Amino acid sequence: MSLWFEENWNNTVRFALRAERTVARVQSPFQRIEVFDSAAFGRVLALDSILMTSERDEFFYHEMIAHPALTAIDAPRDVLIIGGGDGGTAREVLRHPVERVTMVEIDAAVIEVCKAHLPAIGGAAWQDPRLEVNVADGIAFAKAAAPDSFDVVILDGADPVGPSAPLFNEAFYGDIRRILRPHGVFSLQSESPMLTTELWRSTQLRLRRVFRNVYPCFAPVPLYSTGVWSWSVASDGVDPRRPRAHGAGTALAPCKYYTPDIHRAAFLVPPYAQRLIETADAA
Ligand code: SAM
Repeated sequence: MSLWFEENWNNTVRFALRAERTVARVQSPFQRIEVFDSAAFGRVLALDSILMTSERDEFFYHEMIAHPALTAIDAPRDVLIIGGGDGGTAREVLRHPVERVTMVEIDAAVIEVCKAHLPAIGGAAWQDPRLEVNVADGIAFAKAAAPDSFDVVILDGADPVGPSAPLFNEAFYGDIRRILRPHGVFSLQSESPMLTTELWRSTQLRLRRVFRNVYPCFAPVPLYSTGVWSWSVASDGVDPRRPRAHGAGTALAPCKYYTPDIHRAAFLVPPYAQRLIETADAA
């Protein structure tokens, strides 16, 4: 492995990590999976040469994709995770007293590589009896699932390239809405308003064409070259901006980034992002 792992965003931004050792390199039918040890972030996962997550900073992303949604409604029982093959999102969801977590990950190789080489990210989730892992296409799964099946759906896909690309379209969001229960919420990583401005704006627009309530929230993900990242919580009637009582519960005490105060602050939309939403709405 060369001394540096370099992520290249559209030939406009490059982000490089000094790489100490290649741990795994697998070409699956869907993507190129790499795991390497870096000097700054510990062990790192990259898919198709895009940095996904690292041992050192993974908690920012996985806590923020899970807890603002799971604390937005009372007593969520059934949770669907589409993607999330590294196990981090499942680990955070299972902190809550949910009854069933269904993971639908298209690439078995991601699960195998992460279980073998990034075990701390999935942690005990993989052995949790509430977790059911399906290796399948999340789009087909959502299309086939029965209405009103889930209280929370989490879309933990990668960036809209390769297998993740179709996860950003309106028809798919419509299937998510159909399989959510009336009080349910949809949480997704919704890219960066700074690095992928047009994609961020169009995602906000597409979500608003399907769901009545769409609230973006923001946090840093140190590994992501732009610094500011977003997730969005969509529903037909839930306001996720205030955590419900159990959001402050002891289950979330071990979190390293998420707190009820972080939750409230994360949903404060800065003017530049609000203007992107308003121009998207006007489109
Ligand atoms: N959780 C990571 C992070 O911290 O950014 C990145 C997300 S996770 C690794 C992205 C996953 O989505 C990948 O494992 C990929 O295989 C999966 N994926 C992409 N398209 C999918 C689809 N249509 N159905 C199910 N899983 C999909």
